[in-house]
Amino acid sequence: MRTTFIGLGIMGSPMAANLVRAGFDVTGYDVSPGPVERLAALGGKAAGSVPEAVKGADVVITMLPDSPQVEEVAFGADGLLEHGRAGMFHVDMSTVKPETSIRVAQAATIKGIRPLDAPVSGGERGAVDGTLSIMAGGAAEDFTEMRPLLSVLGTTIRHVGPSGAGQTVKAANQLVVGGIFGLVAEAIVLLEASGVDPAGGLDVLAGGLGGSRILELRRHSMVRREFAPGFRIDLHHKDMGIAIAAARRAGVALPLTGVVAQLMAAAKAQGHGSLDHSALLKVIERLNG
Ligand code: NAD
Repeated sequence: MRTTFIGLGIMGSPMAANLVRAGFDVTGYDVSPGPVERLAALGGKAAGSVPEAVKGADVVITMLPDSPQVEEVAFGADGLLEHGRAGMFHVDMSTVKPETSIRVAQAATIKGIRPLDAPVSGGERGAVDGTLSIMAGGAAEDFTEMRPLLSVLGTTIRHVGPSGAGQTVKAANQLVVGGIFGLVAEAIVLLEASGVDPAGGLDVLAGGLGGSRILELRRHSMVRREFAPGFRIDLHHKDMGIAIAAARRAGVALPLTGVVAQLMAAAKAQGHGSLDHSALLKVIERLNG
């Protein structure tokens, strides 16, 4: 299956590499040439533009930062909808607004291109290990055909509804992840201010009812104040905005999500936007002098 991967960043690079290793014929494109060359060195093919990348593809996967980049790559004069062939799949694995996914899907369908929004959870570790959670919106038969490919990238793979539904589930995921990071940061501040070793304290939390993948994987790096991304605050702040907009549309109040979004905004304002989202700890520390 000729597969094109557009967007070879923290997530896209290891995901594309996993497809190469699984025997897929993978062509990569990114505005930054470095990751394209690295994919080619692993056995993929390098493309220098979206039209070149999309030509002859059976599946185009996009893994881009946000809605404007997905819209540019989909709708631009040099975009994948203009250059993709009827029958091709477009699987957008970026985290974007549900409305973006719906608009892209409608335009794709008119061209005979088969769209899925399939955002992921599991972070860089999940992308490298091929253990992502994947939540897909779109036609059930398109999901069924794409499932074998998605199985290379993830282990928990669900069709959650029509176009845009994958993004709504991802928004729900992001408000949970942001909330847990905020509370782990508060737990560290409380333990340290009380003279209790935070590493030992969090070890106990990780084994109890409050345990989570976040505590399991990130507690040590948080206590050591290691904040290299991972997942950038800038991108998580974008996701909190998506969650709040979705809540407004659905007519529901999400008060805790609002607080976490403001903490993310403060982290950005304090110059931490390019750090990992676990750097919410820096904001909680600063609140405490
Ligand atoms: P990233 O910034 O590391 O990667 C994005 C890549 O897209 C970059 O290499 C960039 O050069 C490329 N790009 C930007 N505009 C482009 C364009 N017009 N054409 C081609 N390439 C373009 O971001 P990431 O962390 O890999 O995240 C990608 C998406 O996945 C985001 O929507 C993010 O919210 C989501 N996500 C990230 C994580 C994580 O832990 N990093 C986890 C789950 C979901």
